[in-house]
Amino acid sequence: MKIMDEALVAKEKFGLFNAINPNPKAFSKGRLAGIGISVKDNICVEGLPSTAGSAILSNYVPVFNATVIEKVLAEGGLIVGKTSQDEFGFGTFSVNIGKGLSMPKNPVDPNRSCGGSSGGAAGFTRFASAPHTALAESTGGSIACPAAFCGVAGFTPTYGRVSRFGLIDYANSLDKIGSMGKTVSKASLLLEILMGFDPRDSTSVNQPVPEISNAKPVLKGKTIGIVEEFFGDGIDSKVSKSCENALDAAKSAGAKVVSVSLSKNARFGVAAYYLIAMAETSTNLAKYCGMRFGQSLPLQGHFDDFFSRVRSEFFGAEAKRRVILGTFSRMSGYRDAYYLKALKARSALMKEYFEVFKHCDVVCHPTMPFVAPRFSDIKKLSPMQNYAADLCTVPANLGGFPHLSIPVKEVEKLPVGLMLTGKHFDELSVAEIGKGIESVVNP
Ligand code: GLN
Repeated sequence: MKIMDEALVAKEKFGLFNAINPNPKAFSKGRLAGIGISVKDNICVEGLPSTAGSAILSNYVPVFNATVIEKVLAEGGLIVGKTSQDEFGFGTFSVNIGKGLSMPKNPVDPNRSCGGSSGGAAGFTRFASAPHTALAESTGGSIACPAAFCGVAGFTPTYGRVSRFGLIDYANSLDKIGSMGKTVSKASLLLEILMGFDPRDSTSVNQPVPEISNAKPVLKGKTIGIVEEFFGDGIDSKVSKSCENALDAAKSAGAKVVSVSLSKNARFGVAAYYLIAMAETSTNLAKYCGMRFGQSLPLQGHFDDFFSRVRSEFFGAEAKRRVILGTFSRMSGYRDAYYLKALKARSALMKEYFEVFKHCDVVCHPTMPFVAPRFSDIKKLSPMQNYAADLCTVPANLGGFPHLSIPVKEVEKLPVGLMLTGKHFDELSVAEIGKGIESVVNP
């Protein structure tokens, strides 16, 4: 099977997989028949190691399938393997990798990052020439960012649309499983199949699923809001220009394009996101202590010493940083000043979107402030500079709004992504406008 041969090459040459499926089954019936589906390593697949990019889960093999995997198999999809990622999703460049696991390199230029945290998913979507779509996941931008850096389409649904049953949690109020494909159509087909109510996920919503796989490109009659704060300071001017050109083309094709402001999101989005994400993850990671899942060490000494030894040994530096900061922000005495304040900010930031959505179908801006960076430059970034790179992607994720990153014209042969964010449950408008822009960018 060509897709399996390509996966082996992608693993060897670019580190895009943590594991390849040793028994891939090809089906002839279903809407995904003949299509290879790669799976981000934080989604459980029965019988395949599912590490979430962490050494602490390097020996974990689930005995069940995530709901999304059951849906893929029911439609005849072929499971290719588990794509590499930042540990538990902690990162923007897929360089925070657990010991012994793969660090993905961008097939466009292997000296550069694929983006994160769904780096392997985006890299393989770019690399594969056989039919393929990727199952990816975003907490604060992990589908859009790597899709932008690798030049593919990445579709993140409204929070609650796709079941999280069988997803290894990062931050429960933010995590969303979505899709990536070479085109908006390909990403939309898989996402449509994934969406729908699941009683096994308490945050799953029971809403009719829109037929995004059949969405037509539509620009006439649609209003696109250009977020002025995400075209200015801190955004590479060539990246802005490429996005502006795409929006000009959309305007010529009949879309109404207006300027909008999301100033509170631009100012407070990153801070609110990281406080909430770290607070939630610090509780989620508590279960990895060597007793029930994953790696362990000989049981010696007091339990506290034992847990500390296991966690010191198997968590990476970024995971430890997030446990410490997240625990701090929830502690009595600090909770009101940090965690609760971040929750209040989250509501205020969502209101800013609701105002804009009164007169816009979607809002648009560059997905990332720059093109895929070199690994040598990423090494020089401080943690705060790392987090700041998520400026444009975290707001839509904090609000749980559906969003799509589509490739627009490259800058010096490196991909650029344009991000479209729509109203809750309006994946259809996002798909229609996304296809519309795709068709005017690549006529
Ligand atoms: N870069 C963000 C973070 O590190 C988002 C990652 C994600 O969506 N998993 O938290």
